[in-house]
Amino acid sequence: MESPTPYTACIVAAGRGTRAGGGVPKQFRPLAGKPVLAWSVERFVSDPQCAQLVIAIPKDGEADVRNHLGPLADQCVLVEGGATRTASVAKAVSAADQALVLVHDAARPLLTQTQINLLVEALETHDGAAPALPVADAIVREDDGGVTAVDRSDLRRVQTPQAFHTAKLKACFEKTAGEDFPDEVSLARACGLNLALTAGDEQNFKLTWPADFERAERILAPNSPTALTVVGSGYDVHRMEAGDGVHLCGVFIECPFHLVGHSDADAGLHAITDALLGAAGLGDIGEHFPPTDEQWRGADSVMFLEHALKIAGEAGATPVHCDVTLICERPKIGPHKAAMKARVADILRLPPQRVNIKATTTEKLGFTGRGEGLAAEAVVTCVISEAS
Ligand code: MG
Repeated sequence: MESPTPYTACIVAAGRGTRAGGGVPKQFRPLAGKPVLAWSVERFVSDPQCAQLVIAIPKDGEADVRNHLGPLADQCVLVEGGATRTASVAKAVSAADQALVLVHDAARPLLTQTQINLLVEALETHDGAAPALPVADAIVREDDGGVTAVDRSDLRRVQTPQAFHTAKLKACFEKTAGEDFPDEVSLARACGLNLALTAGDEQNFKLTWPADFERAERILAPNSPTALTVVGSGYDVHRMEAGDGVHLCGVFIECPFHLVGHSDADAGLHAITDALLGAAGLGDIGEHFPPTDEQWRGADSVMFLEHALKIAGEAGATPVHCDVTLICERPKIGPHKAAMKARVADILRLPPQRVNIKATTTEKLGFTGRGEGLAAEAVVTCVISEAS
């Protein structure tokens, strides 16, 4: 039997994307006991046909990558990426020394050997190949006239790895130097290569949102005690005085009062910050931002929540849901709920449907009823992955 042609695997892990939450680039976030990147590296290392493994890493990120990958890093060539994905891939591919090359996103940790085999086989008859899936949802284009239906029958969702004859892909990069492409299929088509689509796999999805980590965790470690869902609660009160407006859940509401506090007194964000710190087991907002510290005078509370998100991420906690209750007679919260939801979702890197803003009065009873102050409660749910 003819021995199979060896290939170089190039893994793109140069991004700094933190949209998936956690405060650290997603390729280094823990997933079912190891960093996201390690899953792809191990997949290729275990394939005898993979003769070389190149990883495009963030600039000045070598120590970080070695730290995350441990001894696995010794089996890889680490290449500093460029300013764009295209530039990073070009640099990685230029280090490839095998006849075939497979370019893979580190954010797809659920790659299977079957997918790799289909691609390598397709290269026997084509210049390049990529896994693709049909589109199940109806597709429309949103434009000035509203929406226009798009025929989805010939549309495909393209995944990675994207596989090529190395010399042909290198020639494409040379021919288009400086140009940017969303992926190598687009680059190869722009250069006239002939491409095959292989059967994609729904499980080979790209980690984009925090909930994607939950989904991947369930697949990779369905019974793992290291994948935990935890909940934290937060409560905050600020006194109310005559003024020109209040900050609540990151939104400024013009009204004839303001909230008194050392920072901008955003009780909503303070409650969320405490809830997140609670879920991550990291104490409370006062420990991290002492009200006696002059540097937090008048501070934008978004900064407190962003800091909590970062240290929670370092502790392996990723928020997946946030529910807030604002308790006051005034100002009216209803008209601002949508803006608050969008703002909190943006700060926590959550899809908006994972954030809920509620409001209630206390029937004129108590300090909130008398309008002396405003209270906020929050519950934040996190998934904890422990890299142990
Ligand atoms: Mg407060």
